[in-house]
Amino acid sequence: MIKMPSIATNQTELLFWKNSYTKEFEAKILDITKKGVVLDKTLFYPTGGGQFSDIGYLQLKSNKDVRLNVSSVEKIDGKIVHIIQEKQLLKLKIADLVIGRINWERRYNLMKAHTSQHVLSAMIMKHVNIKTSKAVIDVSDVSIHLEKPIIKEKLLVALLETNKILNTEIKIESKVISKEKIPVSLRDSLRGHLEEISVDKIRIVSIEGIDNSLCGGTHCKVTSEIGSLFLSDIKGDNITYVFGTSALENLTKLSLEATTTAKLLSAKPDEVFQRMEKMINEFNEMKELNYQLVKKVVKSQMAEIKKNPNRINAFQILMGDFSFAEKKHVLQELGKLPEEFLAIFVVKGPILLIASSSKQLAANKLIQLFIEETNNNGGGSSTIAQASISESEKDLKIISKIISEYK
Ligand SMILES: [Zn+2]
Repeated sequence: MIKMPSIATNQTELLFWKNSYTKEFEAKILDITKKGVVLDKTLFYPTGGGQFSDIGYLQLKSNKDVRLNVSSVEKIDGKIVHIIQEKQLLKLKIADLVIGRINWERRYNLMKAHTSQHVLSAMIMKHVNIKTSKAVIDVSDVSIHLEKPIIKEKLLVALLETNKILNTEIKIESKVISKEKIPVSLRDSLRGHLEEISVDKIRIVSIEGIDNSLCGGTHCKVTSEIGSLFLSDIKGDNITYVFGTSALENLTKLSLEATTTAKLLSAKPDEVFQRMEKMINEFNEMKELNYQLVKKVVKSQMAEIKKNPNRINAFQILMGDFSFAEKKHVLQELGKLPEEFLAIFVVKGPILLIASSSKQLAANKLIQLFIEETNNNGGGSSTIAQASISESEKDLKIISKIISEYK
């Protein structure tokens, strides 16, 4: 369950609990700390309970030209501190009256995000009895961390019902009551860790007929303000989604993609996933088959090359075109190079690969001469080096010429 933020209510009156739709308020400065100001009341929600804080500004009531940015709001040593730049703080003094205004666009998105999370967590709880252990509620998306992973079929049921609720007008209400006064019927269905809350007063957020949970965050008045959810990621027991307009946009794009892909696969849109899964399996089988085949060809071709080494001047050279094979497979089959040998191969890339056991001509020296000649990129050690080449350089003429002219 989402832990209710332990907000100190004795000092600052929490106006966002009274009405989460108010955008402006008037307050008195109670304290000025190193980081910001503490007010007697506030509409700014401080970071907590998985929800990010509000941002906005404070304006001196007596001089509206003094306008200070509130970059975040944090609970520090039990106080709600409106974070303000140190220099700006000098313009304020204790007991000053200020007008505060929150960034409404951000707040409203956070309200929608938070409310949607309640509904999804409640639906997952209802259908599979899996609790939400943590939620990260951001402006554009929400991540919920479940106590264990959920199977796809059950998640679908929970999501379908969540989307239905988020497109229906269902009332959301909150109340602050004393712990002792919770009705027994509510106590049993309440999401949250009641036993972990040390203060007497608790806040219950209720979505009519759907969910009751302990929460200190800001929420919408009705569920239909949110619209649909759209999953953006599932990783183990973590589910991330976007909501509202973003969800609708994603859904529209996906429906078009699915229809187009379905046509391409000669399938129905709802068969796309199964068809793709089958294709991926077939592709992996082919890849494995291809790998085995390549390995065989490299092995036999390498055996032939080893039987008939080339000779240029004093150098014994193993040469060959393996441009169909990965470098590591070619090196594997090459094994240990005999004394005073060069190996010059083309591998997948195409890449010119040189191995040397020669005391007179190191692999990196040879690559360096090649680079000077061709302007290609490359490098390596005395025993093994490589350079990128073009298709027309795969015939190894340039490198052969360099060796024949090498003194
Ligand atoms: Zn909440």
